Amino acid sequence: MAELEPVIGLEIHVQLRTQTKMFCGCPTGFGEPPNTLTCPVCLGLPGALPVANAEAIHYGLMIGMALGSELAPRSVFHRKNYFYPDLAKGYQISQYDQPLCRGGQLGEVEIHRVHLEDDAAKLNHAGSSGRIHGADASVVDFNRGGTPLAEIVTEPSLRSARQAAEWLRLLRTTLRQLGVSDVNMEEGSLRCDANISLRPAGSDELGTKTELKNMNSFRFIERGIDAEIARQSGLIEAGEAVAQETLHFDPRSGSLTSLRSKEEAHDYRYFPEPDLAPVVITNAMLERARQALPELPLEREERLLGLGVSAESARLLSWHGETGAFFDEALAADAGAPPQALANWTAELAGRLDGEDPGASKVTPAALASLAAMVEEGKVTQGAGRQVLDRLVAEGGDPAQVVADEDLEAVGGADELAPIVRAALEANPDVAEKLKGGDMKPIGVIVGHVMKETRGRADGGEVTALVRSELGLG
Ligand code: ADP
Ligand code: MG
Ligand code: ZN
Repeated sequence: MAELEPVIGLEIHVQLRTQTKMFCGCPTGFGEPPNTLTCPVCLGLPGALPVANAEAIHYGLMIGMALGSELAPRSVFHRKNYFYPDLAKGYQISQYDQPLCRGGQLGEVEIHRVHLEDDAAKLNHAGSSGRIHGADASVVDFNRGGTPLAEIVTEPSLRSARQAAEWLRLLRTTLRQLGVSDVNMEEGSLRCDANISLRPAGSDELGTKTELKNMNSFRFIERGIDAEIARQSGLIEAGEAVAQETLHFDPRSGSLTSLRSKEEAHDYRYFPEPDLAPVVITNAMLERARQALPELPLEREERLLGLGVSAESARLLSWHGETGAFFDEALAADAGAPPQALANWTAELAGRLDGEDPGASKVTPAALASLAAMVEEGKVTQGAGRQVLDRLVAEGGDPAQVVADEDLEAVGGADELAPIVRAALEANPDVAEKLKGGDMKPIGVIVGHVMKETRGRADGGEVTALVRSELGLG
């Protein structure tokens, strides 16, 4: 059987960081007491009239510009009709055939469209503790109802779960950089649905897709997509058809359950929202959005490459926005280490924080910059530098002080090092013999011995050179 190729497209809902909701003046907010941020408009009471939020449109334009989309001169809101207890109006106000932005690209992924809509309320399933009339009950909190969302829809450009999760990181970083959203997956301000199908590798037709709903962490997205790829492969290899449906991935059990067979657009009875005028995008609105655009991750990547930072470091520092911002601040501290050395130390720091924002750690950008400079100048070895970093991560403080307190200054120069090297050779006569005979493989034993004696404060290159000269190897 021909090899199967996964095809993945994402639909990302981004809660916009506006002061007020999409179509009313209620404040937006997370964690407020239930049903305190509501009014007749977002409760869907009869006769209430919506008004589109200018700030949400502004953010939508910024997103479109960052993604290189075509911005509509005129854009229309539609009613998308369906029933669900979290939908007070009986319809969602969304966009249909005239979205705010069309097309575009971010990294290797093509964008299909970006449109604006209002969010549903939140259903809290009270379970058996909230039983009413003998049945498990759910309660509705309308605070979130009516919050502005931008929905970003990609083309099916992605080919693996890994790639999808990595790209979503780039998108999140881009949105965070734009300042249009909190992009917090746990709090639901960034939510992602993944559409997945398989096809014979090399084919350019699309197979039947399923949709994985609302995954709320990068890890779950990757695991969910992989699980669905495995499920579809199993079906196809057994000669069965994939049914078009919407699925839920349970990260605890790893299982996929069907939520519903997929509805079609006509099921929603879309029609233009009669209470809202079409949005007309003026030059002044475009100009304001353009002015508000910051440096975006892919632009930062370009800039860092221009500073001579390696491709790998530039990507890390641009795609992980917080780490990149930390690097920029450390670079601005101008302690003397070249950009690549600083990039390496920033990566070293990030690696110890397990995903935590380096800016929220105890290590300041200035402290990291001065540590990098001390290593660069040879005052401290790489190995001792790492010990200093351990201390900084645990307690914060000034690296020069840590070096003094823990006596980590580099041991260098023939005066100090040569006797230690000599002792190491004497302690390992068989190794010394081999080295003298030209077999340099066991030199690590000697270097290791010296490092142990000096607690990592000697420079490996210098030790090697001393070993050679002690043995008369030139
Ligand atoms: P729907 O009408 O079901 O929402 P759309 O055509 O609007 O479908 O596409 C929704 C998302 O699904 C987009 O991100 C798109 O790239 C993706 N998609 C569409 N067809 C496929 C497919 N066959 N396989 C994988 N993803 C797909
Ligand atoms: Mg869809
Ligand atoms: Zn309201």
